[in-house]
Amino acid sequence: MRITVLAGGVGAARFLRGLRAAVPAADVTVIGNTGDDFTPFGLHVSPDLDTVMYTLGGGISEEQGWGRAAESHTVLAELAAYGAGPGWFGLGDKDIATHILRTQWLAAGQPLSAVTRRLCERWQPGVTLLPMSDDLVRTHVTLELDGRPQTLHFQEWWVRLHAAVPASRIEAVGASEASPAPGVLEAIAAADFVLFPPSNPVVSIGVILAVPGIADALRDQTVVGVSPIIGGAPVRGMADACLTAIGVQTSAAAVAAHYGAELLDGWLVDDQDKDVVDAPELAGIAVRSRPLYMTSVAAAAEIARAAVDLALEVRR
Ligand code: GDP
Ligand code: CA
Repeated sequence: MRITVLAGGVGAARFLRGLRAAVPAADVTVIGNTGDDFTPFGLHVSPDLDTVMYTLGGGISEEQGWGRAAESHTVLAELAAYGAGPGWFGLGDKDIATHILRTQWLAAGQPLSAVTRRLCERWQPGVTLLPMSDDLVRTHVTLELDGRPQTLHFQEWWVRLHAAVPASRIEAVGASEASPAPGVLEAIAAADFVLFPPSNPVVSIGVILAVPGIADALRDQTVVGVSPIIGGAPVRGMADACLTAIGVQTSAAAVAAHYGAELLDGWLVDDQDKDVVDAPELAGIAVRSRPLYMTSVAAAAEIARAAVDLALEVRR
């Protein structure tokens, strides 16, 4: 079985760990969001690619859900002693090694897809991990700060401001001129079906869909998604702030309706939201309810199994 998965960070990584446990023999390709990438201290950081790589490779900090386990922060403390920022972004020493190599290999002219493949040689995530694009895409957020409109990199809004200042606009800058990375469209076309893990619909999945060609390729495929919204709220993080910025309600039904029946063939919602199974605005999408909290690898595996079963059922 060949499965292709669009992925953000923590929600995607936990789902993918479940998927690998549920269907160990499946050939899985992951298309990762790079709109969150940024370059503190000149280092190219790819938060979502790294979260997937470390989680599947067994190096993730389980408590945080991102970054390396058993980290130290000597380098960041030394930088701070020079007065160098950004102080709001946590970069552990082990994690910095990844970013140094990524930056070095990119500077030597290798595309991000090749760099990601090389980093994965160490981590052996058990999936093929592809960035959505080798081209630069940056998610920017427009908001009112200190009495004037400003545009910040997504990370600054998310991590420094905790998305507490309402965003008037979220834009994947560069996406419309970007091309899918080598293998991305092929992985979508060759898959038996495509899964959307419970990733952020705006800044994770939405940014991947903004790369020309990807959404079109998905329209010819069977796509089943897992809701990141349970009972009208994100399970973790501030996805509600992103949905509000694009005028979508924070509900399992509104997110599915936002993707639309053109894209989505199946949608898993939590039992708390089971009344939306027959919602008229979701006509054309097969909606099923079940527990959707990924409280353990076993729980995530059961969710992944349900997504696979629904995909096999609705397959075009
Ligand atoms: P990020 O890039 O690290 O923010 O991660 P993603 O975009 O992949 O996933 C973020 C989303 O995962 C958030 O909107 C959460 O609501 C969702 N999420 C996290 N844990 C769970 C869970 O246990 N169950 C479900 N259904 N969603 C979850
Ligand atoms: Ca992310």
